[in-house]
Amino acid sequence: MTAPLIDPFARAITYLRLSVTDRCDFRCVYCMSENMTFLPKKELLTLEELDRMCSSFVNMGVKKLRITGGEPLVRRGIMTFFQSMTRHLESGALAELTLTTNGSQLEKYAQDLFDAGVRRINISMDTIDEQKFADITRWGRLPQVMRGIDAAQKAGLKIKINAVALKGFNEDELPTITEWCAERNMDLTWIEVMPMGDLGNEDRFGQYWSLKDVRKAYEDHYQVTDLAESTGGPARYVRLEQTGQKIGFITPMSHNFCESCNRVRLTCTGELYTCLGQEGMQDLRPAMRQHPDTDEALEQAIRAAIGLKPKGHDFDYSRQRADGQMSRHMSHTGG
Ligand code: SAM
Ligand code: SF4
Repeated sequence: MTAPLIDPFARAITYLRLSVTDRCDFRCVYCMSENMTFLPKKELLTLEELDRMCSSFVNMGVKKLRITGGEPLVRRGIMTFFQSMTRHLESGALAELTLTTNGSQLEKYAQDLFDAGVRRINISMDTIDEQKFADITRWGRLPQVMRGIDAAQKAGLKIKINAVALKGFNEDELPTITEWCAERNMDLTWIEVMPMGDLGNEDRFGQYWSLKDVRKAYEDHYQVTDLAESTGGPARYVRLEQTGQKIGFITPMSHNFCESCNRVRLTCTGELYTCLGQEGMQDLRPAMRQHPDTDEALEQAIRAAIGLKPKGHDFDYSRQRADGQMSRHMSHTGG
């Protein structure tokens, strides 16, 4: 193993989020337009190249690897990639291999994921109402995702539900979603909607439901206790005393979490984004492709990119509009 990755603000980089495809079988309204143009398939890193990239990061001290997208489970052959990462779990170099998914393909892949060493997964779901689910995802169907959740639990995968908090959309479902998660023994985290992608006619500020208000809504129904624990990520947690449930809040807008950031994001074309909220990126592909027999140049390129990691992002809703907005889609960088 080579020296660990430390950025200019003395933050150790131990968490890589890898987007394996920009494609998706859903079209969530806050994430994609209905007629998205995707990258030509030949632009994508091959599964072997994804392995080389990830293995270099693991060699440089990355302990947690999250596979995301787009929808990671629609990438052809993706189980081969998961299976190739198992060796890093077995050697102890990697502590956790996980994924964020919309759940649509879990019925098919849950057992294979478990067999590859995945133990916990995040499933994104903003509503448990069938019609509303079809409305928000445009192409998604709730029963298919519910079957995926059943399969994942049967395989032994621990599930966390991620719900984007949307004003006028799922405000009224807060108690029902919470109780449903409790009944199924799933954790729940709310995410503030971020000003990403092509907004078109969408009004991102109008959709913004501050998690301070979500927390207040919990206080109307439950006794809420703040928890000190942090996962090193952007989530803060509370416990609901009546159910014992732990609820997470990811608040990029109302709480700035950049000071403890331990993560970077790699796209399916090999671009390394060291901050979700900034445009800056470094293309790692040339360093990898020009040196097929050694990873030295690639590791140098990774180290140089980490040396440019910015201090933080500039998202800001405080002026009643979505400042710091970026044209990049979440599905490009990986949510
Ligand atoms: N397709 C997978 C899924 O939906 O879980 C993985 C990729 S998706 C881009 C990852 C996460 O980003 C999802 O939880 C989704 O809700 C979230 N997301 C997408 N666009 C967002 C936005 N504008 N603001 C906040 N969260 C967003
Ligand atoms: Fe697809 Fe996930 Fe984006 Fe929804 S949030 S469109 S499921 S990538």
